[in-house]
Amino acid sequence: MQRPCNAKIVATLGPASADRATIAAMVQAGADVFRLNFSHGTHADHKARLDMIRSIESELGKPIGVLLDLQGPKLRVGTFANGPVQLVEGASFRLDLQRELPGDATRAPLPHPEIFAALTTGADLLLDDGRLRLRVEACGADFADTRVINGGQLSDRKGVNIPGVVLPMSAMTEKDRADLDYGMTLGVDWVALSFVQRAQDIVEVKQIVQGRAGIVAKLEKPAAIECLEAILAETDAVMVARGDLGVELPAEQVPAIQKRIVRACRRLGKPVIVATQMLESMVSAPVPTRAEASDVATAIYDGADAVMLSAESASGKYPVESVAMMDRIIAQTEADPFYRAAIDASHTPPTATTADAIGWAAHSVTDLLDVAAMVAYTSSGSSALRMARERPRAPIIGITPKRATARRLALVWGVNAVLCHDVMGVDEMTEVAVQNAVKIGFAEPGETIVIVAGMPFGTAGTTNLLRIAQVA
Ligand code: PGA
Ligand code: MN
Repeated sequence: MQRPCNAKIVATLGPASADRATIAAMVQAGADVFRLNFSHGTHADHKARLDMIRSIESELGKPIGVLLDLQGPKLRVGTFANGPVQLVEGASFRLDLQRELPGDATRAPLPHPEIFAALTTGADLLLDDGRLRLRVEACGADFADTRVINGGQLSDRKGVNIPGVVLPMSAMTEKDRADLDYGMTLGVDWVALSFVQRAQDIVEVKQIVQGRAGIVAKLEKPAAIECLEAILAETDAVMVARGDLGVELPAEQVPAIQKRIVRACRRLGKPVIVATQMLESMVSAPVPTRAEASDVATAIYDGADAVMLSAESASGKYPVESVAMMDRIIAQTEADPFYRAAIDASHTPPTATTADAIGWAAHSVTDLLDVAAMVAYTSSGSSALRMARERPRAPIIGITPKRATARRLALVWGVNAVLCHDVMGVDEMTEVAVQNAVKIGFAEPGETIVIVAGMPFGTAGTTNLLRIAQVA
């Protein structure tokens, strides 16, 4: 078997990819994780897609991850009396809480008291994906008088971003809570929280999820970047959500922040997804721009765990082709001799724990010997994550008795998860590891594999054993 790519592909499902044949073709083309975007669609839509994913998964025998993306507190202006209005640069414009009073060219309702509670003079409000900019000149508990900095057309319910201000609100709305409860009954593998502002947002969602799914913090606000380390300490994984991030911050700041987040996640060994506009032109064209191909490659050279498709796979004309293109870019990039040098150069020393000592030792073995595969026995997925943190040369096989762990690991760099019963002793451990390495096509007779596990077997958090085995 052709060795699969290390980096994983997350594909968002939507109207363009809502049928079984398309989803199956996306899996065959290289999709590892599907994103159910709860900003759009009904619960019934998402359930139907999840059922199709699970049926394709059992048909192909390959664990597939499902990521539920919560909409989060997306802020919006109210409605206008007589259709869209034109805001002219230099004019004044008032925002207030009177939602029953439709807007005009001089004022509009903004039905979010928490915005006015947090606004200060000099703050900027960005409207309609950042196209319009208003600067606050005076404000109170229920109004803000602003100056139009960048004008343009404004219409009903357009989105509002307030970059510099930490809003006193939770990252979860009533809708998010209902969506999350529903998602838990469906059994998703990852839950993504949008517009995270502080570590406490992650703590709150974790209290509800109770370990039933991994948590992905979507980093799309400057406030989150300012407390990056605290958020990373709480979350299980991260998404560099460049769409909203590029509205809240100048576009030229996004590349450096992306690289900083990827480095920080690699240091901690937490999965990181680079998202949004990666192959944007494939929404309407069968091939990407050269710049887009290069953008995907950059994330791969940086060692990101996953790259994501949004509109390309959810609503574009070429959902399957987008996945196939992404897969080809990843494969080509990982085959470049400079790729290994780039990955090694950005590697940081492991932490002083038994698990990392084993992971690091296993990595050293693959540098020294010609190793066909590394096998990590993993119950919670943690041992496989620590192994992936090393970004080793040889492919990683994560053997787990838990289906949920296998699915969650679909997001993780270099990990191929296999479901298998618990092993009882070192001999069985070796035998089962060899069998699986051969079965999955990574190892042949005469080749060497490296196995890591924890004794006593089947107990989480005990990684303490490294074995080098020959395939008979
Ligand atoms: P979204 O998140 O697609 O849910 O907005 C990603 C982003 O903002 O980049
Ligand atoms: Mn977003």
